[in-house]
Amino acid sequence: MLSMKGLVLHETQAGDKGRFIDMLTEELGVVTVFVRGSKKITGKSIAATQLFSYADFCIEQCKDRYYYQNAKPIRIFYQLRENLRDLSLASYFAELIRTTVPKDKQDNIILRLILNTLFYLTEGKRDAKMLKPLFELRFASEMGFMPDVLMCKGCMNHLPERLVFSASEGCFWCRSCYDKLNKNEGSDLYNAYYMSLAGLEMIRHITLVDLDRLFNFRAGDEVIDIVSRFSEAFICSHMSVKLRSLEFYHNIERNMKY
Ligand SMILES: [Zn+2]
Repeated sequence: MLSMKGLVLHETQAGDKGRFIDMLTEELGVVTVFVRGSKKITGKSIAATQLFSYADFCIEQCKDRYYYQNAKPIRIFYQLRENLRDLSLASYFAELIRTTVPKDKQDNIILRLILNTLFYLTEGKRDAKMLKPLFELRFASEMGFMPDVLMCKGCMNHLPERLVFSASEGCFWCRSCYDKLNKNEGSDLYNAYYMSLAGLEMIRHITLVDLDRLFNFRAGDEVIDIVSRFSEAFICSHMSVKLRSLEFYHNIERNMKY
């Protein structure tokens, strides 16, 4: 019997027999567990195996398959169900983890990152708009895809007032270096995002700061908006993902504006 703490990221029905849940664990990375039919298990156990439940699981392993035995809930992020935008954002993060974290990755950083993000999202302590780039860029960095945030690729200026961050190259140029490059090439190069120093500072904070201090950050809406567009393009370009949950989140966002 295995004991592990895990966060449920996805569930799939398997007829009357039961359902499969995917969870992110410290010990085994992303793991798929079979939960046998709902008749035998108690209400408490059903809660612990729901989407976005974080619990202490008892799992039986049989060859390379895992079977759910019981669980003690630690925290169930049930408030997510009350807000469609928050739920769609959390589902996007969950899909990102499921599709990119390798099995058997023993690492608690990603688990801490998603748990903290869901905490701030459900407690309403940070806006979804702010949490999206925080999670995306930090997640990418922890997975080994960290943008080069130190200095302009052309002149080594590390505090340019205005700059251009490239999603495809994962580095930045000050405006004058980028304009020179662009003149030579004659078109918009490198999937570029124009931003101010405040944008760069936000990207530096997300990628470099201690995980405990990640959420202690404020920025204006414009800065958050450009960093969010950059971080999404960066993720899509470097982790080769095209996620339905991301499209769904944007649909919800668009509808909220009207
Ligand atoms: Zn420069």
